[in-house]
Amino acid sequence: MRLDKYLATVGLGTRSEVKKLLRKKSVSVDGAVITDGKFQLDPAISQVMVGQKVLTYQNYYYYMLNKPKGVVSATTDRVEKTVLDLLVEPASNQKLFPVGRLDKDTTGLLLLTNDGALSHELLSPKKHVAKTYVAQIAGIVTPATCVTFASSMTLKSGEKTKPAKLKILTVDEAHERSKVEITITEGKYHQVKRMFAAAGMKVLELERLQMGSLKLDPTLKRGDYRPLSEQELAKLR
Ligand code: URA
Repeated sequence: MRLDKYLATVGLGTRSEVKKLLRKKSVSVDGAVITDGKFQLDPAISQVMVGQKVLTYQNYYYYMLNKPKGVVSATTDRVEKTVLDLLVEPASNQKLFPVGRLDKDTTGLLLLTNDGALSHELLSPKKHVAKTYVAQIAGIVTPATCVTFASSMTLKSGEKTKPAKLKILTVDEAHERSKVEITITEGKYHQVKRMFAAAGMKVLELERLQMGSLKLDPTLKRGDYRPLSEQELAKLR
């Protein structure tokens, strides 16, 4: 890996800030001062110091993002803004990708990582990782709707769903609106929207609050992200 890339990845600043550090002869690799950003090193072996401080290189990074509306859960898109466009350095240098997808108009918890194995684990259909959402619904959700969701539903496509837990939070009969919490253990395309469509209702707003053990930090503003804590990460594994 190039030294300038390494320094930006561990969070020493933007590319131009990193260049300045190198020019000031502040960086050494295995005891030798290096000023050339193109210098190649092995992050697993080389000891990199800035001044007297030894840097530690992390192979994997994990962030919780509070996804806003209007961005797609992809790493690149020719037209749309992606969740990765929300990141600034050093996260923007860490080759992150979203774990699973939320629709462009869905908000809330999205895990970003460069750990393919953990992502695979969390998305594996065999693991049945639970995902909890709060949804605003056009329609009146009744206890009978909850019973339907708790059994296997047939979507308009003919696909069958696994039982989902539906909890009624509020019902506004006058405006025919309901607020619900729904927990699903699969990840079918547009699953929540298609389940309500099968019940003759429409999802107006959808926000993910939880994935497995990971809960959306209520202090995290839409569009903001933060690294997972040690405890959050340990519980996810
Ligand atoms: N179900 C949906 O319909 N959309 C999402 O973004 C997530 C789950």
